[in-house]
Amino acid sequence: MDGASSATPGPAAAGVAGAGVPVRVIVLGKQGAGKGTQAARLSERYGVPHISTGDAFRAAVRSGSALGVKAKTYMDAGELVPDDLVIGIVREYLSGEGTGGFVLDGFPRNVAQAQALSDMLAPEHLDAVVNLDVSTEEVLHRLAGRRVCQSCGATYNVVDNPPQVAGRCDVCGGVVAQRADDTEEAIRLRLEIYESATAPLIDWYAKQGLVATVDAAGPPDEVAERVLAAVEGARR
Ligand code: ADP
Ligand code: ZN
Repeated sequence: MDGASSATPGPAAAGVAGAGVPVRVIVLGKQGAGKGTQAARLSERYGVPHISTGDAFRAAVRSGSALGVKAKTYMDAGELVPDDLVIGIVREYLSGEGTGGFVLDGFPRNVAQAQALSDMLAPEHLDAVVNLDVSTEEVLHRLAGRRVCQSCGATYNVVDNPPQVAGRCDVCGGVVAQRADDTEEAIRLRLEIYESATAPLIDWYAKQGLVATVDAAGPPDEVAERVLAAVEGARR
């Protein structure tokens, strides 16, 4: 899971636009657009934390914390977790990070969350909002076949990219399984919520001149190159 980062120089390399200033990026896109994969690569490339609210909630569910118990019913149904819980997590995270950079994945997901984020950070503190653009037909195919390592989070697709040993992670040997919210019904609801609540953020951020739309069809390595070019362009 290191494609782009192994092919390109690390964060300390000279010649990187804006080198020295930590990158601050939001990754937007439909379920299955590849936000998690691309956000992880950006995080590695720039040496800044990858903040995934979905991963944070899944970890809370696994640990059985009070937050996890609250979040689980919403998540399994494919609904959004209430804003106050989500915003609380992000606020805690960003206040701990001080002035450092980040790659936000899965947040914000509606205008109320975006507004809360602007209250935490001035908009000029964001470099770019990368909008991963992919057709609904393609994401339905990706999500139906998606399998995720329960230990390290590596993702597979039973059709396009199966693990070498069925049900076992190539990276860490962990159990590879379907996400509880990758059922047909929950997928349909999540995509509807994306259209009604999250897609409007593209315009919201476009008005601030921050949106870079990237074609997210095709192999992860190719998409990663486009994403990197978009972020570098925005930092110039
Ligand atoms: P996906 O983008 O495929 O839905 P994520 O891993 O980003 O997957 O999120 C999984 C679930 O976690 C969401 O369906 C939702 O229930 C919850 N969640 C994650 N981020 C947020 C958020 N910013 N606001 C509300 N709920 C969230
Ligand atoms: Zn694994």
